[in-house]
Amino acid sequence: DLVALERAKQMEKLALMDPLTAVGNRRFTERVLSDRAAQLQREGTGYAVLFIDLDHFKSINDTHGHDAGDAVLVAVVRTIESNLRSFDFIGRWGGEEFIVILADADSAAATAVAMRCCSLVQSCAIPWNDATIRPTISIGVAVADHADTNGEVIARADTNLYLAKSTGRDRYCGP
Ligand code: GH3
Ligand code: MG
Ligand code: MG
Repeated sequence: DLVALERAKQMEKLALMDPLTAVGNRRFTERVLSDRAAQLQREGTGYAVLFIDLDHFKSINDTHGHDAGDAVLVAVVRTIESNLRSFDFIGRWGGEEFIVILADADSAAATAVAMRCCSLVQSCAIPWNDATIRPTISIGVAVADHADTNGEVIARADTNLYLAKSTGRDRYCGP
C-alpha cells in the first residue's frame, strides 16, 4: 500500500543521507563513485573528484563546542554546494571530510572549482555567541582516468589533500 511505500522510500533515503548536512552519506557517495567509474568505462564520460577536509576542525570544536562545529559543517557544505552545478555531487565521506564529484571536468575545470571553493569558504563568517568562526578547507583534486581501478581516483585525491595539508592548509593541490 501507499503508506508502506512512502515509509520504504523514507527509510531508503535515511539510509543514504547524512542527517546533519542533508547530503549523501558515505554509503551513497561510494555508490555514486562506482556508478561514475562504470559510466567512464562504458561511455567515456569523464569526471573529477575533490577531496575536501576542514582545517583544524578539532580546535573549532575545542574552542566553541561541538554544536558550533556542527553549525560550521553545515555552513561549509551549503557554501560549497552553492558553487556546484546541478549535475555535480557532494557527499559526506567521514567526520569533516567531503567528496565532490564534478561531471565532465578536466584538470583545469576541477582546479578552478577547487579554487573557488577555498575562497568562498574563506569568506564565510559564522556567528557563534560572541565570537565569529572563520573556517578554511584544504582540497585534493584528481581527475578520473580510464586506467583507474577501484578507488584509485580517491587515492590520488587523498594524496593531493595530504599535500595541501602539509604545505600549509587553506589551499588546493591537484594534477
Ligand atoms: P587538519 O587540519 O589536519 O584536518 O586537523 P583537524 O583538527 O581538522 O583534524 P582531526 O582529524 O584532528 O579532527 C577532526 C575532528 O572532527 C575530530 C572530531 O571530533 C571532529 N568531528 C567529526 N565529526 C564531527 C561532527 O559531526 N560534528 C562535530 N562538531 N565534530 C566532528
Ligand atoms: Mg579529516
Ligand atoms: Mg580536518
